[in-house]
Amino acid sequence: MPNGMNAQGGACGAAAAEVDVVIVGAGFSGMYMLHRLRGLGMSVVVFEAGADVGGTWYWNRYPGARCDIESMQYSFSFSDALQQEWRWSELYAAQPEILRYAGHVADRLDLRRDIRFSTRVTALRFDEAVGRWQVRTDRGATVSARFCIMATGCLSTARVPDFPGRERFAGETYHTGAWPHARVDFSGKRVGVIGTGSSAIQAIPEIAGEAAHLFVFQRTPNFSVPSRNQPMPPEHERGWKANYAERRRRAQQVRNAIFLHLNDKSALAATEEERHAEYEARWQAGGLPFMAAFNDLIFNKGSNDTAAAFVRSKIRALVRDPAVAERLTPKDYPIGTKRLCVDNGYFETFNRPNVTLVDLRETPLETITSDGLRTSAAHYRLDSIVFATGFDAMTGTLLGIDITGRDGRTLRDAWADGPCTFLGLTIAGFPNLFTITGPGSPSVISNMMVSIEQHVDWITDCLAHLRARGVTTIEPTSPAQDAWTAHVAEAGAKTLYPLANSWYTGANIPGKPRVVLPYLGGFPLYRQQCDAVAAGGYAEFRMQTSHEAAAARL
Ligand code: NAP
Repeated sequence: MPNGMNAQGGACGAAAAEVDVVIVGAGFSGMYMLHRLRGLGMSVVVFEAGADVGGTWYWNRYPGARCDIESMQYSFSFSDALQQEWRWSELYAAQPEILRYAGHVADRLDLRRDIRFSTRVTALRFDEAVGRWQVRTDRGATVSARFCIMATGCLSTARVPDFPGRERFAGETYHTGAWPHARVDFSGKRVGVIGTGSSAIQAIPEIAGEAAHLFVFQRTPNFSVPSRNQPMPPEHERGWKANYAERRRRAQQVRNAIFLHLNDKSALAATEEERHAEYEARWQAGGLPFMAAFNDLIFNKGSNDTAAAFVRSKIRALVRDPAVAERLTPKDYPIGTKRLCVDNGYFETFNRPNVTLVDLRETPLETITSDGLRTSAAHYRLDSIVFATGFDAMTGTLLGIDITGRDGRTLRDAWADGPCTFLGLTIAGFPNLFTITGPGSPSVISNMMVSIEQHVDWITDCLAHLRARGVTTIEPTSPAQDAWTAHVAEAGAKTLYPLANSWYTGANIPGKPRVVLPYLGGFPLYRQQCDAVAAGGYAEFRMQTSHEAAAARL
Protein backbone atom coordinates (compact mmCIF):
# COMPACT_ATOMS: atom_id res chain seq x y z
CA MET A 1 0.00 0.00 0.00
CA PRO A 2 1.37 3.44 -0.86
CA ASN A 3 2.32 6.30 1.39
CA GLY A 4 2.55 4.55 4.75
CA MET A 5 -1.13 4.13 5.51
CA ASN A 6 -2.38 3.48 8.99
CA ALA A 7 -5.34 1.31 9.85
CA GLN A 8 -8.69 3.03 10.23
CA GLY A 9 -10.76 3.13 13.37
CA GLY A 10 -14.46 2.33 13.54
CA ALA A 11 -17.23 4.85 12.91
CA CYS A 12 -16.83 6.34 16.37
CA GLY A 13 -13.07 5.91 16.60
CA ALA A 14 -10.43 8.60 16.16
CA ALA A 15 -9.32 9.35 12.61
CA ALA A 16 -6.03 7.81 11.55
CA ALA A 17 -3.24 10.39 11.69
CA GLU A 18 -1.98 9.54 8.21
CA VAL A 19 -4.01 8.44 5.24
CA ASP A 20 -3.75 8.39 1.49
CA VAL A 21 -6.82 10.52 0.97
CA VAL A 22 -9.04 12.86 2.96
CA ILE A 23 -12.46 13.48 1.45
CA VAL A 24 -14.38 16.48 2.75
CA GLY A 25 -18.12 15.85 2.68
CA ALA A 26 -20.32 12.75 2.71
CA GLY A 27 -23.03 13.77 0.28
CA PHE A 28 -23.44 11.79 -2.90
CA SER A 29 -20.05 12.87 -4.24
CA GLY A 30 -18.10 12.03 -1.08
CA MET A 31 -19.87 8.70 -0.75
CA TYR A 32 -19.14 7.58 -4.28
CA MET A 33 -15.56 8.88 -4.05
CA LEU A 34 -14.96 6.81 -0.93
CA HIS A 35 -16.36 3.74 -2.65
CA ARG A 36 -14.10 4.15 -5.69
CA LEU A 37 -10.96 4.80 -3.65
CA ARG A 38 -11.56 1.72 -1.57
CA GLY A 39 -11.56 -0.09 -4.91
CA LEU A 40 -8.03 1.24 -5.49
CA GLY A 41 -7.00 -0.07 -2.08
CA MET A 42 -6.32 3.39 -0.71
CA SER A 43 -6.76 4.41 2.90
CA VAL A 44 -9.41 7.10 3.14
CA VAL A 45 -11.09 9.13 5.82
CA VAL A 46 -14.14 11.26 5.13
CA PHE A 47 -15.03 14.24 7.30
CA GLU A 48 -18.66 15.29 7.34
CA ALA A 49 -20.15 18.25 9.20
CA GLY A 50 -23.60 16.62 9.40
CA ALA A 51 -24.50 13.76 11.70
CA ASP A 52 -25.18 11.44 8.77
CA VAL A 53 -24.68 11.07 5.03
CA GLY A 54 -26.72 12.97 2.43
CA GLY A 55 -25.14 16.43 2.09
CA THR A 56 -27.67 18.80 0.50
CA TRP A 57 -30.44 16.36 1.33
CA TYR A 58 -29.34 16.16 4.94
CA TRP A 59 -29.56 19.93 5.47
CA ASN A 60 -32.45 21.04 3.22
CA ARG A 61 -35.37 19.60 5.19
CA TYR A 62 -37.76 22.49 4.70
CA PRO A 63 -41.42 21.70 4.01
CA GLY A 64 -41.93 20.78 0.36
CA ALA A 65 -38.22 20.08 -0.34
CA ARG A 66 -38.12 17.85 -3.37
CA CYS A 67 -35.77 17.19 -6.25
CA ASP A 68 -36.74 18.68 -9.58
CA ILE A 69 -34.85 16.07 -11.58
CA GLU A 70 -37.01 13.00 -12.05
CA SER A 71 -36.40 10.31 -9.42
CA MET A 72 -35.48 7.63 -11.96
CA GLN A 73 -32.59 9.83 -13.11
CA TYR A 74 -31.58 11.25 -9.75
CA SER A 75 -29.72 8.19 -8.57
CA PHE A 76 -26.38 6.46 -8.99
CA SER A 77 -25.84 4.54 -12.21
CA PHE A 78 -22.55 2.86 -11.31
CA SER A 79 -24.20 -0.19 -9.79
CA ASP A 80 -26.96 -1.86 -11.72
CA ALA A 81 -27.95 -3.83 -8.61
CA LEU A 82 -28.48 -0.55 -6.76
CA GLN A 83 -30.56 1.09 -9.47
CA GLN A 84 -32.66 -2.03 -9.96
CA GLU A 85 -33.40 -2.68 -6.30
CA TRP A 86 -34.26 0.86 -5.17
CA ARG A 87 -37.91 1.87 -5.61
CA TRP A 88 -38.94 5.51 -5.80
CA SER A 89 -42.47 6.22 -4.68
CA GLU A 90 -43.04 9.40 -6.72
CA LEU A 91 -42.06 10.83 -10.08
CA TYR A 92 -40.15 13.55 -8.19
CA ALA A 93 -38.82 12.32 -4.87
CA ALA A 94 -39.28 14.34 -1.71
CA GLN A 95 -36.29 15.10 0.53
CA PRO A 96 -36.96 12.37 3.15
CA GLU A 97 -36.99 9.70 0.45
CA ILE A 98 -33.75 10.97 -1.14
CA LEU A 99 -32.14 10.99 2.28
CA ARG A 100 -33.31 7.40 2.81
CA TYR A 101 -31.75 6.53 -0.55
CA ALA A 102 -28.43 8.08 0.55
CA GLY A 103 -28.63 6.04 3.76
CA HIS A 104 -29.38 2.92 1.78
CA VAL A 105 -26.31 3.46 -0.41
CA ALA A 106 -24.17 3.99 2.69
CA ASP A 107 -25.49 0.73 4.18
CA ARG A 108 -25.13 -1.29 0.98
CA LEU A 109 -21.53 -0.16 0.46
CA ASP A 110 -20.70 -0.15 4.17
CA LEU A 111 -19.46 3.43 3.90
CA ARG A 112 -20.07 4.82 7.38
CA ARG A 113 -17.09 3.09 8.99
CA ASP A 114 -14.74 5.50 7.18
CA ILE A 115 -16.79 8.64 7.76
CA ARG A 116 -16.24 10.90 10.77
CA PHE A 117 -19.60 12.59 11.28
CA SER A 118 -20.31 15.88 13.04
CA THR A 119 -16.78 16.95 12.15
CA ARG A 120 -16.09 20.05 10.11
CA VAL A 121 -12.80 20.58 8.29
CA THR A 122 -11.53 24.02 9.21
CA ALA A 123 -8.12 24.23 7.52
CA LEU A 124 -5.99 22.53 4.89
CA ARG A 125 -2.30 23.34 4.56
CA PHE A 126 -0.03 21.83 1.92
CA ASP A 127 3.29 20.83 3.47
CA GLU A 128 5.76 21.11 0.60
CA ALA A 129 8.56 19.37 2.49
CA VAL A 130 6.63 16.10 2.51
CA GLY A 131 4.18 16.74 -0.31
CA ARG A 132 1.16 16.13 1.91
CA TRP A 133 -1.89 18.02 3.13
CA GLN A 134 -2.32 18.72 6.82
CA VAL A 135 -6.04 18.65 7.50
CA ARG A 136 -7.45 20.27 10.63
CA THR A 137 -10.95 19.75 11.97
CA ASP A 138 -13.13 21.54 14.49
CA ARG A 139 -12.68 18.58 16.82
CA GLY A 140 -9.00 19.31 17.13
CA ALA A 141 -7.83 16.39 14.98
CA THR A 142 -5.01 16.87 12.48
CA VAL A 143 -4.63 14.33 9.72
CA SER A 144 -1.94 14.10 7.09
CA ALA A 145 -3.11 13.06 3.63
CA ARG A 146 -1.37 12.70 0.30
CA PHE A 147 -4.52 13.82 -1.52
CA CYS A 148 -7.46 15.97 -0.50
CA ILE A 149 -10.76 15.73 -2.33
CA MET A 150 -13.33 18.43 -1.74
CA ALA A 151 -16.80 16.88 -1.99
CA THR A 152 -18.29 19.94 -0.34
CA GLY A 153 -21.23 20.54 -2.69
CA CYS A 154 -22.20 23.61 -4.68
CA LEU A 155 -24.99 24.93 -2.46
CA SER A 156 -23.82 24.17 1.05
CA THR A 157 -23.13 27.54 2.63
CA ALA A 158 -26.52 28.94 3.56
CA ARG A 159 -26.66 32.69 3.52
CA VAL A 160 -28.81 35.19 5.40
CA PRO A 161 -28.34 38.71 4.07
CA ASP A 162 -27.37 41.40 6.49
CA PHE A 163 -30.92 42.68 7.07
CA PRO A 164 -30.92 45.58 9.51
CA GLY A 165 -32.44 44.66 12.87
CA ARG A 166 -32.15 40.93 12.27
CA GLU A 167 -30.80 40.23 15.75
CA ARG A 168 -33.75 42.07 17.35
CA PHE A 169 -36.41 39.63 16.12
CA ALA A 170 -37.84 37.77 19.10
CA GLY A 171 -39.68 35.06 17.16
CA GLU A 172 -38.31 31.94 15.50
CA THR A 173 -36.10 32.17 12.44
CA TYR A 174 -35.21 29.44 9.97
CA HIS A 175 -33.10 29.10 6.83
CA THR A 176 -34.35 26.62 4.24
CA GLY A 177 -30.82 25.28 3.83
CA ALA A 178 -30.29 24.55 7.54
CA TRP A 179 -33.73 23.37 8.61
CA PRO A 180 -34.26 21.81 12.07
CA HIS A 181 -34.62 18.05 12.32
CA ALA A 182 -37.69 18.27 14.53
CA ARG A 183 -40.93 19.10 12.73
CA VAL A 184 -41.66 22.82 12.67
CA ASP A 185 -45.32 23.55 13.33
CA PHE A 186 -46.56 26.78 11.76
CA SER A 187 -50.22 26.27 12.61
CA GLY A 188 -51.88 29.37 13.99
CA LYS A 189 -48.78 31.47 13.22
CA ARG A 190 -48.08 34.52 11.14
CA VAL A 191 -45.12 33.50 9.01
CA GLY A 192 -42.90 35.57 6.73
CA VAL A 193 -40.90 33.95 3.92
CA ILE A 194 -38.14 36.13 2.47
CA GLY A 195 -37.08 35.06 -1.02
CA THR A 196 -38.80 33.47 -3.99
CA GLY A 197 -36.14 31.11 -5.43
CA SER A 198 -36.48 27.33 -5.92
CA SER A 199 -36.49 26.62 -2.16
CA ALA A 200 -39.15 29.24 -1.36
CA ILE A 201 -41.30 28.21 -4.30
CA GLN A 202 -41.42 24.68 -2.90
CA ALA A 203 -41.93 25.74 0.71
CA ILE A 204 -44.55 28.46 0.20
CA PRO A 205 -47.51 26.24 -0.78
CA GLU A 206 -46.78 23.92 2.18
CA ILE A 207 -46.42 26.71 4.74
CA ALA A 208 -49.51 28.47 3.38
CA GLY A 209 -51.51 25.30 4.03
CA GLU A 210 -50.58 25.37 7.71
CA ALA A 211 -49.97 28.96 8.84
CA ALA A 212 -52.66 31.37 10.00
CA HIS A 213 -51.22 33.87 7.56
CA LEU A 214 -48.24 33.78 5.22
CA PHE A 215 -46.47 36.91 3.99
CA VAL A 216 -44.17 36.35 1.02
CA PHE A 217 -41.49 39.01 0.69
CA GLN A 218 -40.38 39.00 -2.93
CA ARG A 219 -37.49 40.96 -4.43
CA THR A 220 -37.41 39.31 -7.88
CA PRO A 221 -40.26 37.22 -9.28
CA ASN A 222 -39.25 33.84 -10.70
CA PHE A 223 -40.27 31.76 -13.66
CA SER A 224 -41.68 28.43 -12.55
CA VAL A 225 -43.25 25.47 -14.33
CA PRO A 226 -45.51 22.87 -12.75
CA SER A 227 -43.88 19.54 -11.85
CA ARG A 228 -46.98 17.37 -12.44
CA ASN A 229 -45.61 15.17 -9.71
CA GLN A 230 -47.53 11.97 -9.03
CA PRO A 231 -47.07 8.56 -7.44
CA MET A 232 -44.58 6.59 -9.54
CA PRO A 233 -46.49 5.02 -12.42
CA PRO A 234 -45.46 1.32 -12.42
CA GLU A 235 -45.01 1.28 -16.21
CA HIS A 236 -42.72 4.33 -15.97
CA GLU A 237 -40.51 2.58 -13.42
CA ARG A 238 -40.50 -0.63 -15.49
CA GLY A 239 -39.58 1.31 -18.64
CA TRP A 240 -36.62 2.89 -16.91
CA LYS A 241 -35.39 -0.26 -15.23
CA ALA A 242 -35.53 -2.21 -18.48
CA ASN A 243 -33.61 0.50 -20.34
CA TYR A 244 -31.37 2.04 -17.73
CA ALA A 245 -28.05 1.51 -19.53
CA GLU A 246 -29.29 3.01 -22.78
CA ARG A 247 -31.07 5.99 -21.17
CA ARG A 248 -28.14 6.81 -18.90
CA ARG A 249 -25.88 6.75 -21.96
CA ARG A 250 -28.21 9.03 -23.88
CA ALA A 251 -28.53 11.43 -20.96
CA GLN A 252 -24.78 12.00 -21.24
CA GLN A 253 -25.26 13.26 -24.78
CA VAL A 254 -27.60 16.04 -23.63
CA ARG A 255 -26.27 19.45 -22.55
CA ASN A 256 -27.64 19.18 -19.03
CA ALA A 257 -27.15 15.40 -18.75
CA ILE A 258 -30.86 14.73 -18.33
CA PHE A 259 -32.57 12.11 -20.48
CA LEU A 260 -35.25 14.17 -22.23
CA HIS A 261 -36.61 14.96 -25.62
CA LEU A 262 -34.84 18.01 -27.07
CA ASN A 263 -36.68 19.60 -29.94
CA ASP A 264 -33.66 20.30 -32.13
CA LYS A 265 -35.06 23.38 -33.78
CA SER A 266 -34.88 27.12 -33.17
CA ALA A 267 -37.97 28.68 -31.59
CA LEU A 268 -37.76 31.31 -34.32
CA ALA A 269 -37.96 28.67 -37.05
CA ALA A 270 -41.40 27.59 -35.77
CA THR A 271 -44.71 29.31 -36.47
CA GLU A 272 -46.61 31.00 -33.63
CA GLU A 273 -49.02 28.02 -33.53
CA GLU A 274 -46.21 25.43 -33.49
CA ARG A 275 -44.45 27.26 -30.71
CA HIS A 276 -47.58 27.51 -28.65
CA ALA A 277 -48.36 23.81 -29.15
CA GLU A 278 -44.81 22.82 -28.13
CA TYR A 279 -44.81 25.00 -24.99
CA GLU A 280 -48.32 23.91 -24.03
CA ALA A 281 -47.42 20.20 -24.38
CA ARG A 282 -44.36 20.70 -22.21
CA TRP A 283 -46.25 22.80 -19.65
CA GLN A 284 -48.79 19.99 -19.36
CA ALA A 285 -46.05 17.33 -19.10
CA GLY A 286 -44.29 19.42 -16.42
CA GLY A 287 -40.73 19.87 -15.22
CA LEU A 288 -37.40 21.14 -16.51
CA PRO A 289 -37.78 19.63 -20.03
CA PHE A 290 -39.81 22.78 -20.70
CA MET A 291 -36.48 24.46 -21.55
CA ALA A 292 -35.79 21.79 -24.21
CA ALA A 293 -38.85 22.92 -26.19
CA PHE A 294 -36.41 24.46 -28.69
CA ASN A 295 -32.66 24.19 -29.06
CA ASP A 296 -31.74 27.85 -28.64
CA LEU A 297 -33.73 29.07 -25.64
CA ILE A 298 -30.62 29.82 -23.59
CA PHE A 299 -28.63 31.24 -26.50
CA ASN A 300 -31.00 33.47 -28.44
CA LYS A 301 -32.88 36.29 -26.75
CA GLY A 302 -35.56 36.37 -29.45
CA SER A 303 -36.24 32.66 -28.98
CA ASN A 304 -36.12 32.98 -25.21
CA ASP A 305 -38.67 35.80 -25.33
CA THR A 306 -41.23 33.44 -26.84
CA ALA A 307 -40.88 30.93 -23.98
CA ALA A 308 -40.89 33.71 -21.39
CA ALA A 309 -44.06 35.21 -22.88
CA PHE A 310 -45.77 31.81 -22.73
CA VAL A 311 -44.97 31.36 -19.02
CA ARG A 312 -46.03 34.93 -18.25
CA SER A 313 -49.41 34.23 -19.84
CA LYS A 314 -49.75 31.13 -17.63
CA ILE A 315 -48.98 33.13 -14.48
CA ARG A 316 -51.63 35.69 -15.42
CA ALA A 317 -54.14 32.89 -15.97
CA LEU A 318 -53.33 31.11 -12.70
CA VAL A 319 -53.42 34.09 -10.33
CA ARG A 320 -56.88 35.60 -9.88
CA ASP A 321 -55.93 39.09 -8.71
CA PRO A 322 -54.39 40.84 -11.75
CA ALA A 323 -52.27 43.16 -9.58
CA VAL A 324 -50.78 40.18 -7.70
CA ALA A 325 -50.26 38.29 -10.99
CA GLU A 326 -48.37 41.27 -12.37
CA ARG A 327 -46.05 41.37 -9.37
CA LEU A 328 -45.40 37.63 -9.71
CA THR A 329 -44.50 37.98 -13.38
CA PRO A 330 -40.78 38.14 -14.18
CA LYS A 331 -39.98 40.80 -16.73
CA ASP A 332 -36.34 41.78 -16.56
CA TYR A 333 -34.29 38.65 -17.29
CA PRO A 334 -34.54 35.75 -19.76
CA ILE A 335 -36.30 32.57 -18.66
CA GLY A 336 -33.88 29.89 -17.45
CA THR A 337 -31.04 32.28 -16.64
CA LYS A 338 -32.01 32.24 -13.00
CA ARG A 339 -32.63 28.58 -12.19
CA LEU A 340 -36.02 27.66 -13.65
CA CYS A 341 -38.19 26.66 -10.69
CA VAL A 342 -40.41 23.60 -10.67
CA ASP A 343 -43.42 23.87 -8.41
CA ASN A 344 -46.43 22.15 -6.96
CA GLY A 345 -49.13 24.82 -6.99
CA TYR A 346 -46.92 27.86 -6.32
CA PHE A 347 -48.81 30.52 -8.28
CA GLU A 348 -52.21 29.16 -7.18
CA THR A 349 -51.12 29.66 -3.56
CA PHE A 350 -51.51 33.42 -4.05
CA ASN A 351 -55.26 32.90 -4.57
CA ARG A 352 -55.57 31.82 -0.93
CA PRO A 353 -57.08 34.36 1.48
CA ASN A 354 -54.29 33.72 4.03
CA VAL A 355 -51.43 34.63 1.67
CA THR A 356 -50.11 38.14 1.01
CA LEU A 357 -47.43 38.99 -1.52
CA VAL A 358 -45.20 41.91 -0.55
CA ASP A 359 -43.15 43.34 -3.39
CA LEU A 360 -39.83 44.55 -1.97
CA ARG A 361 -39.07 46.43 -5.16
CA GLU A 362 -42.17 48.60 -4.69
CA THR A 363 -41.80 48.86 -0.93
CA PRO A 364 -38.23 48.05 0.15
CA LEU A 365 -37.45 46.19 3.33
CA GLU A 366 -36.33 48.77 5.90
CA THR A 367 -35.72 46.70 8.98
CA ILE A 368 -36.58 43.57 10.88
CA THR A 369 -38.15 44.51 14.19
CA SER A 370 -38.62 42.58 17.43
CA ASP A 371 -42.02 41.35 16.26
CA GLY A 372 -41.95 41.50 12.50
CA LEU A 373 -40.64 43.24 9.45
CA ARG A 374 -41.02 46.81 8.31
CA THR A 375 -41.05 47.91 4.68
CA SER A 376 -41.26 51.48 3.43
CA ALA A 377 -45.06 51.11 3.44
CA ALA A 378 -46.08 48.95 6.42
CA HIS A 379 -45.11 46.89 9.45
CA TYR A 380 -45.92 43.16 9.17
CA ARG A 381 -46.29 41.43 12.52
CA LEU A 382 -44.70 37.97 12.35
CA ASP A 383 -44.24 35.01 14.70
CA SER A 384 -41.68 33.28 12.47
CA ILE A 385 -39.38 34.29 9.63
CA VAL A 386 -38.14 31.82 7.02
CA PHE A 387 -35.05 32.98 5.18
CA ALA A 388 -35.19 31.35 1.76
CA THR A 389 -32.33 33.58 0.75
CA GLY A 390 -30.04 31.05 -0.89
CA PHE A 391 -26.38 30.20 -0.67
CA ASP A 392 -22.87 31.47 -1.24
CA ALA A 393 -22.84 29.08 -4.17
CA MET A 394 -19.97 27.10 -5.65
CA THR A 395 -17.10 28.98 -3.97
CA GLY A 396 -18.48 29.89 -0.52
CA THR A 397 -17.83 26.55 1.15
CA LEU A 398 -14.34 26.12 -0.31
CA LEU A 399 -13.37 29.65 0.69
CA GLY A 400 -14.90 29.11 4.13
CA ILE A 401 -12.13 26.58 4.78
CA ASP A 402 -8.70 28.06 5.38
CA ILE A 403 -6.87 26.46 2.43
CA THR A 404 -3.17 27.18 1.95
CA GLY A 405 -1.31 25.73 -1.01
CA ARG A 406 2.20 25.95 -2.38
CA ASP A 407 4.39 28.91 -1.27
CA GLY A 408 1.95 29.77 1.51
CA ARG A 409 -0.62 31.09 -0.96
CA THR A 410 -4.21 30.88 0.23
CA LEU A 411 -7.15 29.92 -1.94
CA ARG A 412 -8.87 33.14 -0.87
CA ASP A 413 -5.97 35.06 -2.35
CA ALA A 414 -5.80 32.90 -5.50
CA TRP A 415 -9.53 33.39 -6.11
CA ALA A 416 -9.80 37.03 -5.08
CA ASP A 417 -11.04 37.97 -8.57
CA GLY A 418 -13.13 34.84 -9.03
CA PRO A 419 -12.38 31.13 -9.17
CA CYS A 420 -9.69 29.82 -11.55
CA THR A 421 -9.54 26.07 -12.03
CA PHE A 422 -8.51 23.50 -14.56
CA LEU A 423 -11.65 21.58 -15.60
CA GLY A 424 -13.33 22.63 -12.35
CA LEU A 425 -11.39 19.73 -10.85
CA THR A 426 -7.97 21.05 -9.90
CA ILE A 427 -6.26 24.35 -9.04
CA ALA A 428 -2.77 25.59 -9.95
CA GLY A 429 -0.64 26.05 -6.84
CA PHE A 430 -2.74 23.58 -4.85
CA PRO A 431 -1.12 20.21 -5.60
CA ASN A 432 -3.04 16.99 -4.97
CA LEU A 433 -6.26 18.88 -4.27
CA PHE A 434 -9.36 17.95 -6.25
CA THR A 435 -12.78 19.57 -6.29
CA ILE A 436 -15.82 17.49 -7.19
CA THR A 437 -18.35 19.61 -9.13
CA GLY A 438 -16.14 22.66 -8.56
CA PRO A 439 -16.52 26.05 -10.24
CA GLY A 440 -15.68 25.75 -13.94
CA SER A 441 -17.47 22.39 -14.24
CA PRO A 442 -21.06 21.82 -15.46
CA SER A 443 -22.28 20.64 -12.02
CA VAL A 444 -25.26 22.86 -11.14
CA ILE A 445 -26.52 23.26 -14.71
CA SER A 446 -26.54 19.48 -15.16
CA ASN A 447 -28.08 16.48 -13.46
CA MET A 448 -25.75 16.52 -10.44
CA MET A 449 -25.69 12.74 -10.15
CA VAL A 450 -24.26 12.39 -13.66
CA SER A 451 -21.69 15.11 -13.05
CA ILE A 452 -20.70 13.63 -9.71
CA GLU A 453 -20.12 10.20 -11.20
CA GLN A 454 -18.10 11.65 -14.06
CA HIS A 455 -15.87 13.66 -11.71
CA VAL A 456 -15.35 10.83 -9.27
CA ASP A 457 -14.47 8.42 -12.08
CA TRP A 458 -12.04 10.94 -13.57
CA ILE A 459 -10.29 11.52 -10.23
CA THR A 460 -10.11 7.78 -9.57
CA ASP A 461 -8.50 7.14 -12.96
CA CYS A 462 -6.08 9.99 -12.33
CA LEU A 463 -5.03 8.64 -8.93
CA ALA A 464 -4.57 5.16 -10.40
CA HIS A 465 -2.41 6.68 -13.15
CA LEU A 466 -0.25 8.50 -10.59
CA ARG A 467 0.21 5.41 -8.50
CA ALA A 468 1.18 3.28 -11.48
CA ARG A 469 3.95 5.78 -12.28
CA GLY A 470 5.11 6.49 -8.76
CA VAL A 471 3.93 10.10 -8.98
CA THR A 472 3.37 11.72 -5.61
CA THR A 473 2.31 15.25 -6.56
CA ILE A 474 0.21 16.61 -9.39
CA GLU A 475 -1.07 20.08 -10.16
CA PRO A 476 -2.26 21.81 -13.30
CA THR A 477 0.08 24.24 -15.03
CA SER A 478 -0.88 27.91 -14.92
CA PRO A 479 -1.25 28.16 -18.73
CA ALA A 480 -3.62 25.17 -18.75
CA GLN A 481 -5.64 26.74 -15.96
CA ASP A 482 -5.72 30.15 -17.62
CA ALA A 483 -6.90 28.59 -20.89
CA TRP A 484 -9.66 26.69 -19.10
CA THR A 485 -10.78 29.73 -17.13
CA ALA A 486 -10.95 31.73 -20.37
CA HIS A 487 -12.90 28.91 -22.02
CA VAL A 488 -15.41 28.85 -19.14
CA ALA A 489 -15.91 32.63 -19.49
CA GLU A 490 -16.29 32.33 -23.26
CA ALA A 491 -18.82 29.49 -22.99
CA GLY A 492 -20.80 31.57 -20.47
CA ALA A 493 -20.72 34.64 -22.71
CA LYS A 494 -22.30 32.67 -25.57
CA THR A 495 -25.41 32.13 -23.44
CA LEU A 496 -28.00 34.49 -21.97
CA TYR A 497 -26.98 33.63 -18.36
CA PRO A 498 -24.95 36.83 -17.84
CA LEU A 499 -28.18 38.83 -18.35
CA ALA A 500 -29.59 37.77 -14.97
CA ASN A 501 -28.60 38.62 -11.42
CA SER A 502 -28.28 35.07 -10.17
CA TRP A 503 -26.10 32.93 -7.95
CA TYR A 504 -24.74 31.37 -11.16
CA THR A 505 -22.76 34.58 -11.64
CA GLY A 506 -22.15 35.47 -8.00
CA ALA A 507 -24.63 38.34 -8.22
CA ASN A 508 -26.57 37.22 -5.14
CA ILE A 509 -23.72 38.12 -2.78
CA PRO A 510 -22.73 41.78 -2.50
CA GLY A 511 -19.04 42.13 -3.35
CA LYS A 512 -18.64 38.64 -4.81
CA PRO A 513 -16.67 38.73 -8.09
CA ARG A 514 -19.10 38.66 -11.00
CA VAL A 515 -18.14 35.64 -13.15
CA VAL A 516 -20.13 32.81 -14.66
CA LEU A 517 -19.36 30.06 -12.15
CA PRO A 518 -20.46 26.83 -13.86
CA TYR A 519 -19.17 25.61 -17.23
CA LEU A 520 -21.94 26.32 -19.75
CA GLY A 521 -20.43 24.54 -22.78
CA GLY A 522 -22.62 21.52 -22.00
CA PHE A 523 -21.91 18.18 -20.37
CA PRO A 524 -20.98 16.25 -23.56
CA LEU A 525 -18.29 18.74 -24.62
CA TYR A 526 -17.05 18.95 -21.04
CA ARG A 527 -16.71 15.21 -20.74
CA GLN A 528 -14.88 15.01 -24.06
CA GLN A 529 -12.31 17.52 -22.82
CA CYS A 530 -11.80 15.69 -19.52
CA ASP A 531 -11.37 12.38 -21.37
CA ALA A 532 -8.88 13.96 -23.77
CA VAL A 533 -6.74 15.17 -20.85
CA ALA A 534 -6.66 11.66 -19.37
CA ALA A 535 -5.98 10.02 -22.75
CA GLY A 536 -3.13 12.47 -23.31
CA GLY A 537 -1.38 11.33 -20.11
CA TYR A 538 -2.38 14.47 -18.14
CA ALA A 539 -0.01 16.65 -20.17
CA GLU A 540 -1.65 19.79 -18.73
CA PHE A 541 -0.30 18.89 -15.27
CA ARG A 542 3.05 19.06 -13.57
CA MET A 543 3.81 15.74 -11.91
CA GLN A 544 6.63 14.76 -9.57
CA THR A 545 7.77 11.45 -8.15
CA SER A 546 9.07 11.41 -4.59
CA HIS A 547 12.66 11.14 -5.92
CA GLU A 548 12.20 14.23 -8.08
CA ALA A 549 10.69 16.11 -5.16
CA ALA A 550 13.62 15.14 -2.93
CA ALA A 551 16.12 16.16 -5.62
CA ALA A 552 14.34 19.50 -6.07
CA ARG A 553 14.69 20.19 -2.34
CA LEU A 554 18.48 19.59 -2.33
P1 NAP B 1 -31.90 31.35 -4.56
O1 NAP B 1 -32.33 30.78 -5.83
O2 NAP B 1 -30.59 32.05 -4.51
O3 NAP B 1 -33.05 32.31 -4.06
C1 NAP B 1 -32.85 33.20 -3.01
C2 NAP B 1 -34.02 34.13 -2.92
O4 NAP B 1 -33.78 35.04 -1.87
C3 NAP B 1 -34.21 34.97 -4.20
O5 NAP B 1 -35.56 35.13 -4.43
C4 NAP B 1 -33.53 36.28 -3.81
O6 NAP B 1 -34.00 37.40 -4.52
C5 NAP B 1 -33.91 36.38 -2.36
N1 NAP B 1 -32.98 37.26 -1.67
C6 NAP B 1 -31.66 37.11 -1.50
N2 NAP B 1 -31.14 38.17 -0.86
C7 NAP B 1 -32.16 39.00 -0.62
C8 NAP B 1 -32.26 40.27 0.00
N3 NAP B 1 -31.18 40.88 0.50
N4 NAP B 1 -33.47 40.85 0.08
C9 NAP B 1 -34.56 40.24 -0.43
N5 NAP B 1 -34.54 39.04 -1.04
C10 NAP B 1 -33.34 38.43 -1.13
O7 NAP B 1 -31.82 30.23 -3.39
P2 NAP B 1 -32.69 28.90 -3.27
O8 NAP B 1 -34.10 29.14 -3.52
O9 NAP B 1 -32.31 28.28 -1.98
O10 NAP B 1 -32.15 28.00 -4.45
C11 NAP B 1 -30.77 27.85 -4.71
C12 NAP B 1 -30.57 26.74 -5.70
O11 NAP B 1 -30.69 25.48 -5.04
C13 NAP B 1 -31.59 26.67 -6.82
O12 NAP B 1 -31.37 27.60 -7.81
C14 NAP B 1 -31.43 25.24 -7.26
O13 NAP B 1 -30.31 25.06 -8.09
C15 NAP B 1 -31.19 24.53 -5.94
N6 NAP B 1 -32.47 24.02 -5.44
C16 NAP B 1 -33.02 22.97 -6.10
C17 NAP B 1 -34.22 22.48 -5.70
C18 NAP B 1 -34.83 21.35 -6.43
O14 NAP B 1 -34.17 20.46 -6.92
N7 NAP B 1 -36.10 21.35 -6.52
C19 NAP B 1 -34.89 23.05 -4.63
C20 NAP B 1 -34.31 24.11 -3.97
C21 NAP B 1 -33.09 24.59 -4.37
P3 NAP B 1 -33.26 37.91 -5.85
O15 NAP B 1 -33.67 36.93 -6.91
O16 NAP B 1 -33.72 39.28 -6.05
O17 NAP B 1 -31.77 37.81 -5.59
